Amino acid sequence: MTAKLDPSVRDLLLPDARNWLDRPPLSPFIDGAFRAARSEHRLPVVDPGSGVTMTEYVTASSEDVADAVRAARAAFDDGRWSELDPEAREARLRYLAGLLDRDSEAVAQLESLDTGKPLAEARLDIAEAVAVLRYYAGWATKIEGAVIPAPRRLLATGTREALGVCAAITPWNYPLPILMYKLAPALAFGNTFVAKPSEQAPLSTVYFAQLCAEAGIPDGVVNVLPGGGATGATLTSAPGIDKIAFTGSTRTGQAVMRAAADTLTKVTLELGGKSPQLVFADADWDAAIKGVMDGIWTNAGQICVAGSRLIIDRGIHDEFVTELVRRTRQLTIGHGLAPGTHMGPLVSAAQRGRVNRMVAHAVAEGAEAHDGPTPPEGNGFFTAPAVLTNVAPGTQIERDEVFGPVLTVVPFDTEDDAVRLANNSCYGLAAGVWSTANATVHRVARRLRAGIVWANSYGIFHPSLPFGGVKSSGFGRELGFAGVEHYTELKTTVIDLGPGPAN
Ligand code: NAD
Repeated sequence: MTAKLDPSVRDLLLPDARNWLDRPPLSPFIDGAFRAARSEHRLPVVDPGSGVTMTEYVTASSEDVADAVRAARAAFDDGRWSELDPEAREARLRYLAGLLDRDSEAVAQLESLDTGKPLAEARLDIAEAVAVLRYYAGWATKIEGAVIPAPRRLLATGTREALGVCAAITPWNYPLPILMYKLAPALAFGNTFVAKPSEQAPLSTVYFAQLCAEAGIPDGVVNVLPGGGATGATLTSAPGIDKIAFTGSTRTGQAVMRAAADTLTKVTLELGGKSPQLVFADADWDAAIKGVMDGIWTNAGQICVAGSRLIIDRGIHDEFVTELVRRTRQLTIGHGLAPGTHMGPLVSAAQRGRVNRMVAHAVAEGAEAHDGPTPPEGNGFFTAPAVLTNVAPGTQIERDEVFGPVLTVVPFDTEDDAVRLANNSCYGLAAGVWSTANATVHRVARRLRAGIVWANSYGIFHPSLPFGGVKSSGFGRELGFAGVEHYTELKTTVIDLGPGPAN
């Protein structure tokens, strides 16, 4: 199918990105090859910046799911990957990372087109994916076991073994980094893999499958199943999977966990958030305003760690909000590939409708909306960023994840008050604290119920920093040593050395 992108956008694409859109519909990648379609069910890949269908893909059928799991199982069981010397796995993964790096600009263009995010943000995503792959490639040769203290006549050792077949179900907002948080540690330790990308942004994950083949990752080690919720549900309940790593909404995470209970499959869940940013009166204003803006306007607020609740000292509330709104109005909203775009569209018309309804409801409940810049006209799914003041605690907009460019502002009077407001959420993914007093930062950070707290900064990710949530934001950690723990299992071996010589 020929992409119907506007020529002015299409002309910006590198040949690799253009060819990827022009190729026959994307299809499942199973046992080392793209598979002829078994399902007639096709879904469009839409450019959120223009509303046009760029290409389409064949969704994986339940037979495809079974075949992918079978291929991954066979690849694990015969040791073609898990029994390789760690040096060989490391080298192969580093080579794969090099191929992704080589194609990074084309993949960033595809990611920007698929998700709507500005190209500059998509470039950072691909760089992060490469970095995570390289980080875990290094772990392949560094992992160690333990000698376990035991009674004298026993020699007990613990070795870290691969789990087997690992599956990943990923969301649309950061497709490649989130895939890599799961795939890189899984492969580094010898597991095999089945990935189901989001139906809303499958392009980069399917592209990555092609790179796995080019890198000589053995057939069956990486399998990719494009498809929607039904494909995800089939995968979650498929027998033969040893671990499912899910990132997405809390509601879908609950469904995944229920299904995993039937097969007693290990699960880690990275779910939604409603993260607070606490700004104290002594904060560095310039840094705090920039941090608050980056925390909520990045990817048009469609980010799990969006700092969507500004909790601010009442004494600086008015002045801070005035400056925040002034700077927000200077942002350029536009197509992700257009030079100078700070904020792209929302991912779909449905998501834009939901965000706009939530803002209208908040205003009806008494909030005051300070609108941002005017979105461009046309068929893209744009919306204006909104700062909402006079937000009553406990109202829908203050409670529920919006997943859009909407910031609520609530004043606090005391430190206790600030911590209470921040923790008053069913979520606990991330938080930001802005204060130039080290004691305030440490005291407050310690009291916040969140998986990660950024102080005088926001949204810093690095392959070595464990990431994940508490409460309804899920459980399990990704990145850093957590990736080693979640993709290996300790095996204890006990040798009875006997009583030894009598004397
Ligand atoms: P979603 O839950 O709608 O979809 C996520 C994935 O689950 C998709 O691949 C989808 O096809 C699949 N899915 C849908 N129904 C399923 C089912 N019944 N069984 C198995 N799989 C199913 O989420 P989304 O809209 O793609 O992403 C946005 C959400 O993801 C937000 O809530 C956001 O906070 C969250 N998120 C969390 C993190 C994190 O690390 N905590 C990161 C990014 C996004």
